[in-house]
Amino acid sequence: MTHSTHDESESFDLVVRGGVVVTPDRLIRADIGVRDGRVAAVGDGLPAGRQVVDADGLLVLPGLVDGHVHFREPGMDRKEDFGTGSSAAAAGGVTTVFDMPNTIPPVATAELLRQKLALVARNAHVDFGLYGMLGQSNADEISPMAEAGAMGLKLFMGQTTGDNPCPDDGAIHAGLRAAAAAGAGRRGARGEQPAAAAVRPRTAGRGAPRPARAPRERPDLVEVEAVTRIVTLAAAAGTRIHIHHLSSGAGLARVRLLRSLGYQVSGGGFSSGTCR
Ligand SMILES: [Zn+2]
Repeated sequence: MTHSTHDESESFDLVVRGGVVVTPDRLIRADIGVRDGRVAAVGDGLPAGRQVVDADGLLVLPGLVDGHVHFREPGMDRKEDFGTGSSAAAAGGVTTVFDMPNTIPPVATAELLRQKLALVARNAHVDFGLYGMLGQSNADEISPMAEAGAMGLKLFMGQTTGDNPCPDDGAIHAGLRAAAAAGAGRRGARGEQPAAAAVRPRTAGRGAPRPARAPRERPDLVEVEAVTRIVTLAAAAGTRIHIHHLSSGAGLARVRLLRSLGYQVSGGGFSSGTCR
């Protein structure tokens, strides 16, 4: 068993006792000793700490990070709000969430970002970050939103929850250039500011897509076109891009192809390709 050495003469603030510790390469039955907010030891039979948690029969993992949640506050908190959403996150072992900007109003200015931060911080049970939105006419707000604490930008390329039509290519390029400039200003201190894109193929009507009609209304072609277009615009603007909501094999294949050509693109999604 590999574990850090520990000095038993020093007591721990917290000992998590008897659980199965999940490490990157295996499972270890061990105690965890925490001192000054950090894991100080992993091993068998650690001395008791000021606080002891019995984890017998439980898995012990680092806090998980969910980089894509929609807690719907403000404006749609009949569905969920930051209190209920972050409570569920904590119950599931998720200790950090990043919340999407298509609330009502959408988070498209620094002032709205500050208002949302103040609103949700009161009810957040886990650490969190907020996305800003890249819209048709808010390129001037990108840098101020980054300064106000936005941890990324989301661009909606198709109709989704809220009334947020996709910007035209000129507006997308202007917004991504502003994101690249804001990221360059933050590099080193707080890391690069990535831009994020939601690829959501266009539909004939407004409102959320109906799953039964999705294959007809959202054929693979529009996802492939959207991925190709946004990656082209992001490369021209000098920023990385992450594709959310990939929903087709053809879209994934296009992401892989573009990566193989050297484009800075990543992707993820889930099967329905939509979001409540
Ligand atoms: Zn989403």
